[in-house]
Amino acid sequence: MFLESIDIKHFRNLTDIHLEFSPGFNVFYGANAQGKSNLLEAIYTLAFLKGFRGDRLPDLIEFDASGAQLSTLLNREGAKTRLSLALESHTRHAYIDGSPCTRARDYMGILRAILFIPMDVSIQQAAPQLRRTWLDKMVFNLKPAYLLDLEQYQKLVKQKSAALRCEHPDTALLDVYDAQIFPVASRLIEARYQYLQLLAPHITRVFSKIFDESFDCFPVYKSATRTENIVFGKDMPTPLQAVLEGYRNHQSGARHKELARQQIASGPHRDDWGFELNGRHARYYASQGQQRAMSLAIKIAEIECLKQEAGIEPVFLLDDVSSELDPVRHKRLFEYLNAISAQTFLTTTSRHHVPIENVAHIFRVENGRITSE
Ligand code: ATP
Ligand code: MG
Repeated sequence: MFLESIDIKHFRNLTDIHLEFSPGFNVFYGANAQGKSNLLEAIYTLAFLKGFRGDRLPDLIEFDASGAQLSTLLNREGAKTRLSLALESHTRHAYIDGSPCTRARDYMGILRAILFIPMDVSIQQAAPQLRRTWLDKMVFNLKPAYLLDLEQYQKLVKQKSAALRCEHPDTALLDVYDAQIFPVASRLIEARYQYLQLLAPHITRVFSKIFDESFDCFPVYKSATRTENIVFGKDMPTPLQAVLEGYRNHQSGARHKELARQQIASGPHRDDWGFELNGRHARYYASQGQQRAMSLAIKIAEIECLKQEAGIEPVFLLDDVSSELDPVRHKRLFEYLNAISAQTFLTTTSRHHVPIENVAHIFRVENGRITSE
């Protein structure tokens, strides 16, 4: 899929923009604070109904404006769809081909976008909550129905946590919550497990091709109920059935502990994931450059995985990646991105950071104005 064009009104510092894109590489260059990331965020908002720098709607609207409007013409294998959004300070209205769309789940998943921002390079060191969100987003991108289970699970976790914090917890009510939580939690674990299994060969290949041939890089899932990590792509991973049984057994014997600590003992909201690099936990072993490379490799692997497993080619939003890689890896990254042919939107402070032969369309960004060159 690719975006043919975009129209932006009063979105952050982008007051009035109309742009036509190339299906290949689109590069946006300009000095700091001109509107480059804002442009990527406009595309991201059209995909996910929220920005990528905080969740507050009013922040997305230009100062002193009453609302922002975004609209894009999406081309999916020749079939065109217009996605539009009107953002007001506390509400947003979404439209598909001009018709209002009231349920977020009917809207999200039409435009598939994969974002890489400088903050992502430190995902290995980030709080587990952020890493889980990363993983959940990847699973969602391949399987949008995952969002329903995730929302349901989060709701149940909230309710059960509140019940555990009561002065006199109602054990019958806790039993009801457990009975409701278990099947949803199992589906989430299963979806994450299957996703990492599908992703593993792509990560291994991308990492070695672009970044480091001499290192083996494998994704791992860390269940709060198991001491050892589940490693994907190397030997046979721990069977899913054993992971689910481990979770069920752990959870069914945890009531006493849960009441004492007033919190849920285990489940997808406590699990974590990461990488193994040459047999060691990457968070403690990999160099900074390798950790950056891994973060980027996983995004590219995600694109390949979506293409292979679902026949979907997402758009790739790369914010200021030039500052993160050395020249050799940078060059290989561009060759690789060019070969996978996903529509790419890339921002940079200098056009010299980008090997020009691969660029289909270049735009200059200056003080909220974007001009095609
Ligand atoms: P850098 O190279 O430093 O990342 P950038 O070109 O990506 O710069 P953006 O993050 O797009 O810069 O921000 C451009 C400008 O938009 C900033 O000066 C910022 O203060 C401004 N801005 C952010 N939110 C709003 C808003 N709601 N209304 C108006 N301007 C805003
Ligand atoms: Mg920026």
